Amino acid sequence: MIRRLPLVVFLILLIGLPAFAATPEFWITQLNYIGLATLVVLGLVLLTGVGGLTSFGQAAFVGIGAYATAYLTTAMGWSPWAALVLGLVFTAIVSYILGAITLRLSGHYLPLGTIAWGLSLYYLFGNLQFLGQYDGIAGIEPIHIFGISLSHGRHIYYLIWFAVLVSMWATSNLLNSRPGRAIRALKGGSGMAESFGINMLSYKIIIFVYSALLACVSGWLYAHMQRAVSPSPFGLDYSIEYLFMAVVGGGSSVWGAFVGSGLILFLKDQIQNVLPQILHTTANFELVVFGVLMVLVLQYARDGVWHIIAGWWYAISRQKTTQRKLAPPPEATALPQRQRPEKGSLVLQLEAARKEFGGLVAVNDISFSLHAGEIMGLIGPNGAGKSTTFNLITGVLPSTSGKISFQGKRLDKLRSREIAKLGVGRTFQHVQLLPTMTVIENVALGAHLRRSVGVVSAALHLERKDESELLYEAAKQLQRVGLGDYLYEQAGNLALGQQRVIEIARALAADPVLLLLDEPAAGLRYKEKQELAQVLSRLREEGMSILLVEHDMDFVMNLTDHLVVMDFGTKLAEGLPEEVQRNPKVMEAYLGGIDESESDDEQASAPVTAGGAV
Ligand code: ADP
Ligand code: MG
Repeated sequence: MIRRLPLVVFLILLIGLPAFAATPEFWITQLNYIGLATLVVLGLVLLTGVGGLTSFGQAAFVGIGAYATAYLTTAMGWSPWAALVLGLVFTAIVSYILGAITLRLSGHYLPLGTIAWGLSLYYLFGNLQFLGQYDGIAGIEPIHIFGISLSHGRHIYYLIWFAVLVSMWATSNLLNSRPGRAIRALKGGSGMAESFGINMLSYKIIIFVYSALLACVSGWLYAHMQRAVSPSPFGLDYSIEYLFMAVVGGGSSVWGAFVGSGLILFLKDQIQNVLPQILHTTANFELVVFGVLMVLVLQYARDGVWHIIAGWWYAISRQKTTQRKLAPPPEATALPQRQRPEKGSLVLQLEAARKEFGGLVAVNDISFSLHAGEIMGLIGPNGAGKSTTFNLITGVLPSTSGKISFQGKRLDKLRSREIAKLGVGRTFQHVQLLPTMTVIENVALGAHLRRSVGVVSAALHLERKDESELLYEAAKQLQRVGLGDYLYEQAGNLALGQQRVIEIARALAADPVLLLLDEPAAGLRYKEKQELAQVLSRLREEGMSILLVEHDMDFVMNLTDHLVVMDFGTKLAEGLPEEVQRNPKVMEAYLGGIDESESDDEQASAPVTAGGAV
């Protein structure tokens, strides 16, 4: 396995270095610091790189871990291990409270919020009498494992790197799991994920606490390595440095945490050594040079250094290994299915649903109903209010007035994730996939509610059974819509039409009773449209209720049982497709906009014909 070669070499070097007596002490110390930083940066990879939440306060959590053990072991005589447990509990509580408050903030308020509490924790360390104020706490005992003292740098090295490797393993497990897919949706897919029943705020808090716990472990190790703590390494400048490491290493990859920490600590040290010799001065120019270097890296390696290394190695190793075609996931137990309503029973009912945007009435007291096993079309010119109607039904937008009910339950006061739970699945007019995730992962996100895998079991990889069931379900839905050959492609690499079909598979993975499709055939070729029509007909036979917005008249007329036509927010006509097609008001709405000179007699008197664009 040539692709694993770098990992094996890395591990051999990592384990071998301290055992080798000729390794300079300085390297060991440096590697210890790199390991401690990697732990913190790993949290930032999850929080900032993947989750898109910028924190300027990580160093303060390192401080909590360090001070907790410093105080408990020196003043209270606790064992370092007990102090670690209490430190973790305390960090979890503090970060949960801070997270629950600050993570509701968006935009630049969040980073500002993290700066605020980062600073206040720093000054708290410096001013509390029992923490030794700015002098800190000295005389911390080394950690003992099985009677061996880890007082020497070469010994604590193993504990530090054990913690780093375990955390890297756990973090990458987490990212490739059910909760991980939700976490990866935080950046750029929050609204979509909520439409599949995922509570995004709770995932924000989870990664916030997770990253704080990693920082706490780093602080605990630091305190017992240094044998003394003082407030300075837990201030804002260190928090900024951790962020630099995360960005320079490679925002969203676990290995980027190691590369970024290593690179920045190495560069800082080199600059400190070399610069005074070049400039013949002891003045403090290091930070200036360091700052310029950072700007250059951010300019030329925007995705981080790890991205470059990985791409380079991938190119080399691919030449030597014939890329095997990845097989679909093995068969697994089918996920439980929702109770289906009886064919013909009332599924969705809108009664005078209304939406105003300021003075604009986008949906003007619209009423219609949809029954189980029926495909209903919602058509109308651009801007008629079709997508807004979808957004009212799915709770993406609150309605101004009116009543919307689904299987007898009022929807209009519910959040979108509660509506998803009841069995409403949807696609979006503007495709909302996570482009860097694979097709199968995107679809598995749709099945999120059908299994409950927690963060701990995902991080420890104890969820294999649930995960295989979710992936098997996702693959099954993709095969159903004819995309079985694209399971492991990046979703963003597929044609736009195919991306729309992935959205249908994702909605089906949620096992909905009602499916809302917003222009599913846009961008599809003729043959693909026919295949999609077949898939939808089959779904109808199975008792699915479908509400369809579509511009291709051929598609709509051949497929739907019932049509509602909207224009300027108002319902213009309703009925069987053939009836609606001949309705003079509908013809007016569709053809009225055409210039007199262009519309000859034949066009004006013809029914809305097959293939006519709306
Ligand atoms: P359709 O999907 O039928 O093309 P939409 O439902 O997207 O139409 O839009 C209906 C009307 O509501 C349009 O005039 C549009 O500009 C307006 N509209 C839609 N969303 C918003 C919004 N979030 N804020 C203000 N106006 C909006
Ligand atoms: Mg629309």
